[in-house]
Amino acid sequence: MNLLMLYRGPLASCNYDCPYCPFAKRRDTPAQLREDRAALSRFVEWVVANPHGDTLSVLFTPWGEGLTRSWYRQALVRLSHLPHVERVAIQTNLAGRLAWTADADPERLALWATYHPGQTSRDRFLTACATLRRHGIRHSVGMVGLPEHHAEAVTMRDALPAQTYLWINAADGHVYSADEEARWTAVDPLFGYSVRPHASAGHECWAGETAISVNGDGLVRRCHFLPEAIGNLYDDTFRTALTARACPAASCDCHIGYVHLKRLGLHQVFAGGIAERIPAGPPPAWGAPGPHVRSAAAARTAPR
Ligand code: SF4
Ligand code: SF4
Repeated sequence: MNLLMLYRGPLASCNYDCPYCPFAKRRDTPAQLREDRAALSRFVEWVVANPHGDTLSVLFTPWGEGLTRSWYRQALVRLSHLPHVERVAIQTNLAGRLAWTADADPERLALWATYHPGQTSRDRFLTACATLRRHGIRHSVGMVGLPEHHAEAVTMRDALPAQTYLWINAADGHVYSADEEARWTAVDPLFGYSVRPHASAGHECWAGETAISVNGDGLVRRCHFLPEAIGNLYDDTFRTALTARACPAASCDCHIGYVHLKRLGLHQVFAGGIAERIPAGPPPAWGAPGPHVRSAAAARTAPR
């Protein structure tokens, strides 16, 4: 089967301090870092062994920043060279040096990069993106849609090449007026998917069928948002739990979750780039209303 694994280990420290950070950041102690490194190593060995002969994709979604830690960089490089790994990606603020990407297979490595104004400069972030392009590494770029960051998002959209997708996440707790939504949609044609939570109760979701969430200790859940375990990676109990089923939660408001909500059809929109959040389709449409805007409008009229 083709399985997407979202891995999140104990790491919770970050070199940035974004005021809107959704995570409870901490300063990891040496013992916590050793624990994170050991957990990641165990996970990597499982992916290398691939006991079921699957085609695997991996997205690292750390609570903090992984790329400042050598073991995440090494894991990405190593997994990128495995023939049964279709894609290996990580969510990152792109602050670290990127020379290591030259050792990875650019066919399989991808980055999900977020630009945080106030924590770094636009020039520095754009230089990092240019480095990725030089190494042929697929990447999306994203920002949080805070009203005070709109002008910067427009500038970033203009500064990035047309083929680089700039996604915008609706800011937590912010209600967007129709005008605001239109202004952000002009930056990200897919903003309509992010702007309001999606009703999910009773709707089938690929999470728990072809996508799973894996903790550092191997605990497997359908997704990062449902607390119930469906098994463990290392004793193989998760495997028989992979099946089609409805979501028990009222709503789903995070891209790494609702991208799997079947009724939204986002596996088609992001075909070939689900892990790194890169849509399929004609990239020059970014920044101008296109067919995806109509898709987003259709999704908004569906029950939530
Ligand atoms: S870069 Fe991400 S994890 Fe780090 S402080 Fe900002 S939002 Fe939080
Ligand atoms: S809709 Fe969201 S919360 Fe529900 S199973 Fe899918 S990813 Fe999880």
